[in-house]
Amino acid sequence: ENVPEAAAQAQVVAQKILGNLAQPYELDGHAQHSSVSVGVTLFGGEQREMVEEPLKRAELAMYQAKTSGRGSMRLFEPEMYTAVVTRATLEADLRQAVSEAQFLLYYQSQGGDGVRLIGAEALVRWQHPQRGLVSPMEFIPVAEASGLILPLGQWVLRTACAQLALWASRAEMAPLSIAVNVSARQLRQPNFVDQVLSILQESGANPARLKLELTESVLVDNVEDTIVKMRTLRDSGVNFSLDDFGTGYSSLSYLKRLPLDQLKIDKSFVRDILTDPNDAAIAKMVVALADSLGLQVIAEGVETEAQREFLNNLGCHHYQGYLFSRPMPIQEFEACAAQVLQVLNS
Ligand code: C2E
Ligand code: MG
Ligand code: MG
Repeated sequence: ENVPEAAAQAQVVAQKILGNLAQPYELDGHAQHSSVSVGVTLFGGEQREMVEEPLKRAELAMYQAKTSGRGSMRLFEPEMYTAVVTRATLEADLRQAVSEAQFLLYYQSQGGDGVRLIGAEALVRWQHPQRGLVSPMEFIPVAEASGLILPLGQWVLRTACAQLALWASRAEMAPLSIAVNVSARQLRQPNFVDQVLSILQESGANPARLKLELTESVLVDNVEDTIVKMRTLRDSGVNFSLDDFGTGYSSLSYLKRLPLDQLKIDKSFVRDILTDPNDAAIAKMVVALADSLGLQVIAEGVETEAQREFLNNLGCHHYQGYLFSRPMPIQEFEACAAQVLQVLNS
């Protein structure tokens, strides 16, 4: 029995299938084109198993092939199985986290040229009972795929609005705004607008201090519905920013129609803005676009004074990043804010 030989042969066969099925064909007088993904696994060695097992493996490999692009083939590897188990564990933990409210909201300051502190972006953190703080980069995608982003997103919005209401009674904090990230999946809920409005009302927060950050993924489908929802909220005073701008799909014609207030230059363009002419060109383009659409522009991921100055010269006068502050728990953020605001007033 020769495993490498069997695998090689299976791959040759899979390539033939892919090649043949990729040929365009005619159906009812129209040219048709299909793309196929193939997952391959070996079975029938010494190990006895039921038919379900190899099918499961082949399916996992097929999904891997799918995500690596159309028309490809993958051979099953044990890591694919590990990834599925890890993912399932994370989802189960996350479900519990939502019901037990194991989350914290961190705040990262946003500043401008004249005013060092205009507001903050609220960034969620998961305090996992065993693993400690888990990054949203790891759990937000799982929350989105599982639908848990809906209750989690509500918690974030409620927490941020409660904070705004508290700040409203403190003269120095009252002008600050809070930006809250909203996933496309949240926005697509039929009752999204009502949810936001009732959270605003229950908390007593001023809608004009709330900024919702959307990503370009909201431009992918049902743009009309998005526009209607944004308009309704904007009529109540809520602001909108387009996050991670430049990284996703951007149909500029749709962009023109979204009732936005701000574009946010993604941190991936800011990082090498001083050394990579392409990144500098993109940042410059975003500033020009914002100007022509009458929108404010803010850069995220600003870590050095040189980056800030470069952006400033491009015409971007609002910033967020480690240069100003890291995302911090509320007590720390308020202490920092007090310092900044005191310096300003003295
Ligand atoms: P984002 O909305 O683009 O947030 C900015 C990310 O950049 C944050 O990562 C922030 O910590 C990081 N960052 C800020 N300044 C700097 C800097 O100077 N340098 C570098 N290298 N990074 C900086 P974080 O907190 O890990 O959040 C990651 C993403 O998770 C967020 O990206 C956002 O898409 C998502 N996220 C966070 N909180 C929420 C939430 O409440 N709801 C939803 N739907 N998504 C959230
Ligand atoms: Mg954001
Ligand atoms: Mg961003």
